[in-house]
Amino acid sequence: MGQQGKHLNSIHVSHEKHTATCATEIMAIPETVCISMSQHIGAPCKPLVAKGDAVKVGQVIGDTDAFVSAPIHSSVSGTVKDIITMRNVMGGKDQMVVIEADGKQEVWEEIKPPVINDMKDFIAAMRASGLVGLGGASFPTHIKLNPKNLDEVETLIVNAAECEPFITSDHRLMLENTQYIIDGVLAVMKYLDIKMAYIGVEENKPDAIEKLNAVIKENGHENDIKVHVLRARYPQGAERVMIYEITGKTMNAGELPAQYGIVLSNVTTFAFIGQYLKTGRPLTTKRITVDGNAIAEPKNIIVPIGTRLADVAAACGGYKAEPKKIIMGGPMMGRAVYSDEFPLVKNNNAILFFDGPQALIPEETGCIKCGMCTRACPFNLLPVSMVEAYENKDADKLNKLKVMQCMECGSCSYVCPAKRPLSFTHKMAKAFVKEAASK
Ligand code: SF4
Ligand code: SF4
Repeated sequence: MGQQGKHLNSIHVSHEKHTATCATEIMAIPETVCISMSQHIGAPCKPLVAKGDAVKVGQVIGDTDAFVSAPIHSSVSGTVKDIITMRNVMGGKDQMVVIEADGKQEVWEEIKPPVINDMKDFIAAMRASGLVGLGGASFPTHIKLNPKNLDEVETLIVNAAECEPFITSDHRLMLENTQYIIDGVLAVMKYLDIKMAYIGVEENKPDAIEKLNAVIKENGHENDIKVHVLRARYPQGAERVMIYEITGKTMNAGELPAQYGIVLSNVTTFAFIGQYLKTGRPLTTKRITVDGNAIAEPKNIIVPIGTRLADVAAACGGYKAEPKKIIMGGPMMGRAVYSDEFPLVKNNNAILFFDGPQALIPEETGCIKCGMCTRACPFNLLPVSMVEAYENKDADKLNKLKVMQCMECGSCSYVCPAKRPLSFTHKMAKAFVKEAASK
C-alpha cells in the first residue's frame, strides 16, 4: 500500500503541540448547557422537549425524519429552561435547547448497549447513537457506513493524522482509549465485511504508534489492521491526502471514498463506536484541546456538548489575557468566532484562545511571483491565477483553474512571503462559482 517515495505537495507547519503530554481531564458539569439542533450536515433536528421538562443524560431531545440527520441527546440531567433561536458560528440561526443542570447527572433509563445481529441493526445503532463525523465534517456516520456500493468496499481507513498545530486531543485518545479504537474498527470491519484496515498516524507520535500496534497484537489482528506511518506534514489529515498517501488513489473534490472502494473516518469516530457498542451511551461529550496564549491552563478536557466556550475557558483556569481571537478547531482550517458565548458542538476538537500578539494578522504586501503557493498546494492548483480570476469575476476561468478542487487548507496562505490571504479568497471564489452556476 502507499506510493513508495511519492507524496502530494505539503508544508511544514510549526506544531505547537503544547498539550501532547497532558492526560485528559473531565470537566465539571456547567450550570447550563445550550444544545444546538443543527449539529450535522442536513436538515436540523426539531426539539422533542419543551420548556419546563425534566431531562436526563443521554435522553433524545431533538430528532427529524430527514434522511441526512442524526438525533441529538442531552449532555446533562436537569430542566429545560428555554428553547431559543440563536446565531450560530456560520452566521445562520439555529434552534437551541437550553438546559439548567441539576448536577446529579442521572442517566436516561433507556440507555443500554445496542443488540446487534446484522448490518441493518448496526446501521440503526449508529443513527441512534447520534454519531456524526467527528473529524470536522459532521456527516452522519450511519450514512457514511452504508454506501450504495458496499460490496465494492474493501479497505477501511482510520484517519488518525492530527496535522493542525496545537491540537492533541486525538493523540491523547490514541494513548488513553486505544482498545475502544480497535473495538470500533473491528465492529465496522465485521458488519461491513471489510477485510483490511489501515490506521494512518504521523511519525511524530511514536508513543501512539507503539500503543496502537501493541493493542492490535493483543487482539490478534496484526494481519488485518495495520498502522500506516505518515510523514508529519500538513495537510496530512485531509481526506483526499490521506487516501492518496495510504492507497495511492487520487480522489477529486465531490467524490466519495466509497467510489474508490474505501470507507474512511476519523479515529475519534471509531473510538466512539467501540465505546457505544459496549455502553450504549450516545454522543453527549467531546474530548477537546484548549490552548492559546490567552488561556491560563492549556489542556485536553472532556466537555459536555452544549457547554459555552466561556465555561470551557473557566474550566481551564480562565483567561490570563484578553482573548483577541477565538478559534473553534485549528488555526489552519478552524473557524474564528466573535464571542465566547457560543456552545460546543459535536464536531469541535479544539478551542484556541489567542491573545493580541498571537492573533495579529500580518500586513499584506504585493505578490513577488515566487511560486511558493503553487509548490505548497497538494493538488497543484494555481493560487495566484485563481485570485486574479476571482478579482476579474471570471467564473469560466475559475472553473478552468479547478477552483472547486481547493479544500481551503490554507497551505498557500501559510507559505506566502507577501502574507496574501489566498485561501480565504479561494473560499469566496468557490462561493462565486456556485452562485454563477445557479443563475
Ligand atoms: S487552500 Fe486551496 S489552493 Fe491553497 S494550498 Fe490549499 S488546496 Fe491548494
Ligand atoms: S506565494 Fe505569495 S508572493 Fe509568492 S507567488 Fe504566491 S501569492 Fe505571490
